Amino acid sequence: SLTQRLSGTIERLRGRGRLTEENIRESLREVRIALLEADVALPVVQALIERIKVRAVGQEVLKSLTPGQALIKVVRDELTTVMGSTASDLNLATTPPAVILMAGLQGAGKTTTVGKLAKHLKERRKKKVMVVSADVYRPAAIEQLKTLAEQVGVQFFPSSAEQKPEAIVRAAIADAKKSYVDVLLVDTAGRTSIDDAMMAEIKALHAAVDPVETLFVVDSMTGQDAAVTARHFSEALPLTGVVLTKTDGDARGGAALSVRYVTGRPIKFIGVGEKPDGLDVFHPDRIASRILDMGDVLSLVEQVEQQVDQDKARKLAEKVAKGKRFDLNDMREQLEQMQNMGGLSGLMDKLPGVGQIPDHVKNQVTGKEVPRLIAIINSMTLKERRNPALLNGSRRKRIAAGAGVTPADVNKLMKQYQQMEKMMGKLGRGGMKGMLRGMRG
Ligand code: GDP
Ligand code: MG
Repeated sequence: SLTQRLSGTIERLRGRGRLTEENIRESLREVRIALLEADVALPVVQALIERIKVRAVGQEVLKSLTPGQALIKVVRDELTTVMGSTASDLNLATTPPAVILMAGLQGAGKTTTVGKLAKHLKERRKKKVMVVSADVYRPAAIEQLKTLAEQVGVQFFPSSAEQKPEAIVRAAIADAKKSYVDVLLVDTAGRTSIDDAMMAEIKALHAAVDPVETLFVVDSMTGQDAAVTARHFSEALPLTGVVLTKTDGDARGGAALSVRYVTGRPIKFIGVGEKPDGLDVFHPDRIASRILDMGDVLSLVEQVEQQVDQDKARKLAEKVAKGKRFDLNDMREQLEQMQNMGGLSGLMDKLPGVGQIPDHVKNQVTGKEVPRLIAIINSMTLKERRNPALLNGSRRKRIAAGAGVTPADVNKLMKQYQQMEKMMGKLGRGGMKGMLRGMRG
């Protein structure tokens, strides 16, 4: 996976001040390979890598844990920018019938998708739906749509191979108006490859019917070619959306990224099977993780995002360095940071001073202990936190009751506090330099 790929380069990048072209070169190469392996079209990969580079170079690394993780975040953010982050359904905001025009190569899945969309509109959006075929080249195509219409229970407007596509669709619109149809789905002919005659025909059809949605249907299995086809169709027609078919046979998902990038239009649905229910609303955020096998990358990034607040850490370091006392508020802050860092091993050592704390103390404050320790400190008054010497037996009893723990637990916390305080005192005398070095890790 990409995370595994990057972990090596991440290690090497640790401890550099900012992302430079130099120090992300290797990681970028890994990102590039991951995109290509996902079957993203080469020109798209190149464009994306360039954008990621521009966004990454010069970025401060101090705020994140390592430059490699900072880069992962840039990759994630860039893919999200390209893909969009929210799902989009069909736009039907027009005087009925809302005409939806399908465009795409032969075999892409247009007719099948018309059946699926008819079912979706009828069942999910409670619309009265009519379908019509303008595929006058293959009588079997008209039959195919008729069968599908019967199967999903929507109106079928009959057409024949003798008619012109525009005449068919005009007649269908008139009929749809008369019978108060909400949505008219228009299936069209496609060729096996891009040709001028096909483009001229679909353009004329588009001009004649003025659809509210013009959907480009593309086979995800065509990989690199999907981007080329997408470019031709988006140059010829004002597309409003994309349906990516046959994603059930393509686990890589690169076509989604390519087509989205090339057309600049949202992928609205994906085909996930041959049957009329084989249609899913497209969730751009999900496919982004599929493309780069980013499930684990994303969780990493989330951890990065809720990581140690470096500014707080710096303030604490400065405070201790100035010889101010480490109090229970400071301890709570550190505990919260430890909690945020969760299972990320080795991160604890990044906190100022914590690296020098003996392992047995660290072990006490990690894991499930931490929330309890925080709860205990929360039950103290501000005065008590600032001046732990106030915490006599009766105060400890009150605090224990407030936090729902035993007085012995409070005593244990105080012991840990004293150990940390001693450590911090030593560090403070060691001066600022060592402290900040500890922070950068
Ligand atoms: P058209 O020429 O663009 O109208 O393509 P069709 O709708 O006739 O579909 C071509 C082939 O692709 C048919 O065999 C469909 O069953 C199949 N197909 C379409 N969409 C999907 C899908 O999402 N998944 C799978 N597995 N097959 C699909
Ligand atoms: Mg067809």
